[in-house]
Amino acid sequence: MLDFLERDFGVDVRERVRFMRLSTPLDLERDVGLHRGAVYGLENGLLSTSVFRPRMRSSVVDNLYLAGSSVHLGGGIPLCIGSGMIAADMVTEDWNGSGSRAHSSSRRP
Ligand SMILES: Cc1cc2nc3c(=O)[nH]c(=O)nc-3n(C[C@H](O)[C@H](O)[C@H](O)COP(=O)(O)OP(=O)(O)OC[C@H]3O[C@@H](n4cnc5c(N)ncnc54)[C@H](O)[C@@H]3O)c2cc1C
Repeated sequence: MLDFLERDFGVDVRERVRFMRLSTPLDLERDVGLHRGAVYGLENGLLSTSVFRPRMRSSVVDNLYLAGSSVHLGGGIPLCIGSGMIAADMVTEDWNGSGSRAHSSSRRP
């Protein structure tokens, strides 16, 4: 990083550095609990987007709703906020304030 700053920007900050911490994917897995240190959760590859991405309504555990980087909409703060808002809408839509479920859990997303 320091070499990069010097080479690409002509700035040598070595003299000014008092503390430096370098995090690797292994650190992120251990310290923050990220699976394999993946900063943005499940990869956004061809086979893990759209209909291939894990459902927000769990198909395994009844009445479990999922939000965050490894389900729709994807990784990153803005998408995770959107994911949480959609999950909240799903709960409201499914339960409709009646105490009984209004829809089947097989519906996407
Ligand atoms: C170093 C770094 C830099 C990043 N920079 C950016 C950026 O600049 N812009 C951007 O958009 N995104 C950035 N991201 C990605 C973004 O932070 C994530 O995509 C997003 O925070 C994922 O949200 P999440 O709710 O899925 O998971 P998290 O934010 O990881 O939330 C999961 C929560 O669940 C808690 N938890 C875990 N296990 C349990 C358990 N068993 N019981 C109770 N609680 C539990 C955790 O403590 C955590 O609080 C960055 C990520 C990292 C690691």
